Amino acid sequence: MTITTTEWHQKAKAAKLPSRPFIDGGFVDARTSETFDCIFPGDGRLVARVASCGDADVDAAVRSARAAFEAGVWSRVPPVERKKVLMRFSELILANREELALLETLNVGKPIANSFNGDVPSAANCIAWYAEAIDKVYGEVAATAHDMTTLVVREPLGVVAAVVPWNYPLSMAAWKLGPALATGNSVVLKPAEQSPFTALRIAEIAIEAGIPKGVLNVVPGLGHIAGKALGLHMDVDCVGFTGSTEVGAYFMQYSGQSNIKRIGLELGGKSPQVVLADCDDLDLAAQTIAAGIFANAGQVCNAGSRLIVEDRIKDKLLEKVMAHAAALTPGDPLDPATRLGSLVTEEQMTRVLGYIDAGRADGASVVAGGRRVKQESGGFYVEPTVFDSVANTMKIAREEIFGPVLSTITVRDFDEAMTVANDTIYGLAAGVWTGSVKNAHRAAKAIKAGVVWVNCFDRGLFSVPFGGFKQSGFGRDKSLHAMDKYSDLKAIWFAH
Ligand code: NAP
Ligand code: MG
Repeated sequence: MTITTTEWHQKAKAAKLPSRPFIDGGFVDARTSETFDCIFPGDGRLVARVASCGDADVDAAVRSARAAFEAGVWSRVPPVERKKVLMRFSELILANREELALLETLNVGKPIANSFNGDVPSAANCIAWYAEAIDKVYGEVAATAHDMTTLVVREPLGVVAAVVPWNYPLSMAAWKLGPALATGNSVVLKPAEQSPFTALRIAEIAIEAGIPKGVLNVVPGLGHIAGKALGLHMDVDCVGFTGSTEVGAYFMQYSGQSNIKRIGLELGGKSPQVVLADCDDLDLAAQTIAAGIFANAGQVCNAGSRLIVEDRIKDKLLEKVMAHAAALTPGDPLDPATRLGSLVTEEQMTRVLGYIDAGRADGASVVAGGRRVKQESGGFYVEPTVFDSVANTMKIAREEIFGPVLSTITVRDFDEAMTVANDTIYGLAAGVWTGSVKNAHRAAKAIKAGVVWVNCFDRGLFSVPFGGFKQSGFGRDKSLHAMDKYSDLKAIWFAH
């Protein structure tokens, strides 16, 4: 990236920030006059007031999505044609990389280098992956009888609502849009109130790419209003949700209270990073553990937030992790050199600091970080924080903090490590560090989580499914499995 900090700040001042819902092919005035504020968390400055969509806006978006679906302008287009359009959508996302990266960073305070090199290209890759896949998935011919031919085919559901969080706004949207659009559905996307800009902008890009109007609508708004309206809507067939376990539970209720719409839930986590005494590369483990909790300022669903380590190596490992924490200072999100930005909002910062206080009060000790910094900037920054002497019963070991806070829990042996790793309501992901093939396999089997990384962490590809066990949700994002969420199987019997 050749753009300097000063240039990014200039671009931020000049940026055109979308603030109206995108319905039926264009930006429209919201039916409501309510708005919510978007604050740049890097300096606390108000950057935009965005329409807070209500029931009438959501209904208009759903009607547009339904009309497009029933007209067949997308749902009945040959997969090979949808592929071409989605490939173009992916290319245009990349072509608008600079603008999208800026919008993302302005919304959520993540380092511009990450938005530019990570979030935007990754979202484009996601769309391209599903574009490339869609004309390569086949139906089935079932084994029935000689005078019978029985096909098992996949059909799109109809109107999919995608309700997504603020930590990776563009990526989380793309994880829903890729498989939902590729399979022929129409989508109504509701971004988190903290991060509406990129969602709105890509709807415009989708039209430019040739996705017909009505196939992708975006309703910025508050969860308990616009999110709830989608959850309860009688004409929404499916909700693809990523967010907290608490709100995921609401969506199951909304479904039961309305039309039994399908629900896919990618929820929270409290992922263990288990380091066994036979780990043969503590330097790599420490570096990866630090990245696994401090990346995106810890605002990551699969963040490795519980370090579970055997007592024999605890001091040696922790020293190394602390050195990584100390080397990482929060900086201006618009500075390309920054590796750790701000937290998303003042509220989130206050929450994280509250957890740090709770850890201290419960008797754990802060061995790195622990404070708010850069207060003079007006932004919401917290130091990378490491706790030692954490018991798995403490609040900081049980609840998802969603900030740069690592809780270290010391265990005696392998069995205790597995017990502690699984002693959580969550089951999204886990890391295991060991030099023993046998322990690697035993641990990978023992841990109840949708993803287990052995001697690595946070690896991902679109060819690999991602999602949780237990209260981390159900259904999978990424890979061909994600298409299951957005399609129904139909069995067709031909007697002859
Ligand atoms: P959140 O508060 O659960 O919100 C997620 C989405 O739901 C937002 O669009 C939100 O809108 C909406 N919402 C909130 N309350 C609602 C309600 N009562 N009815 C309907 N919709 C409602 O989560 P978040 O704070 O944005 O994101 C952090 C959470 O997401 C963490 O728990 C994290 O672990 C999880 N996450 C999971 C994954 C995964 O793949 N498993 C990935 C990323 C994040 P508002 O923003 O307007 O409230
Ligand atoms: Mg929220």
